Amino acid sequence: MTAITEWGLQGHSASFSFYLTAPHCERQPGVAISAGSLAHTITIAGPGGPAAAVRLRASGFEAPILFDGTGYARNDLPSPDIWISQQANVGASRYLLPGIFVPWDKNCDDTFEVAVQEQSSIASDLGATMLLAVDARWIAKRTEVVVDSLQSTDQAVALVLAHRADPLSVGGAVPGLRRISQRVSRLTILRSDHGAIGALAFGAEHAAIGLTTTTRHYATAAMRARRRPGLASRVFVSSLFDWFLADDIAGWTAAGSDVVCDLQCCGGLSLAQFIDPDLDVNWHNMHALAHAADYVLGADTFDRPRLFLEQCRRAVSLYGLAGFKGPENPKPQLTSWVLS
Ligand SMILES: [Zn+2]
Repeated sequence: MTAITEWGLQGHSASFSFYLTAPHCERQPGVAISAGSLAHTITIAGPGGPAAAVRLRASGFEAPILFDGTGYARNDLPSPDIWISQQANVGASRYLLPGIFVPWDKNCDDTFEVAVQEQSSIASDLGATMLLAVDARWIAKRTEVVVDSLQSTDQAVALVLAHRADPLSVGGAVPGLRRISQRVSRLTILRSDHGAIGALAFGAEHAAIGLTTTTRHYATAAMRARRRPGLASRVFVSSLFDWFLADDIAGWTAAGSDVVCDLQCCGGLSLAQFIDPDLDVNWHNMHALAHAADYVLGADTFDRPRLFLEQCRRAVSLYGLAGFKGPENPKPQLTSWVLS
């Protein structure tokens, strides 16, 4: 199959959302409203999603909403039929199953294949999208198993990638995601970082992008998510196409390399401003990510991979540049996109 026919089948109506937890929507409805205006859709995570949506709708929020019940991480979600009726009652743009976690099994492909068969059967009966949280090694090391299993069901699927830190830092994960996005129709990537824009570029139908370290991937308790201490904000730096701590950005500024944001959110101000804990960094992060996603999705389906990869290449060329006092080396995910 040629690349043209692969892309011709999908990706033409791709969209993205911001991925917010139900408590975040309750605490900062303004962030949810901004997310809905910048991304046109929001994804609300957790069993409290429909209740949070009711309150947003009551305040005039009209954008489409998706729900990740996070059933792969908990067992207090109602049964699939009830969960879907809860989504329907608040006008979800489509319905997702509660979700299950697919653990890594290095010896056997059955774990993945059986999970897909079971979930696709439930999804088919209920007219829903199946939701699988998968250990990132499945997409990194068993790409063809994932592609073949998902293609065989002919059902819409939403994937959440699980890893203790960045799932796309696992060797093989970026080319795996790229291939899955090209080959699996009606694919959604949920609870992801900016790497999901790459999935959109290569044919995924929808990507839900998180704004915090816990909403940019899923980590099981056994994966022991690694956290850097401190409350400093994480800031998406468009030119470097990655997330950095505001403390680190302030350090580059102090050393003579200021990084400014020319988008409407910051109006040319330094990103070091977010060292101030009273400033809400969400507004900037959403603008910067929406700008990157719109840049790719604004192009013809055929041009999207090239535009995305050029964005990554331009970013990589800035790392370690003579005279730039910022980070010296791109993180593995960014390097992987350039090499993919
Ligand atoms: Zn900004």
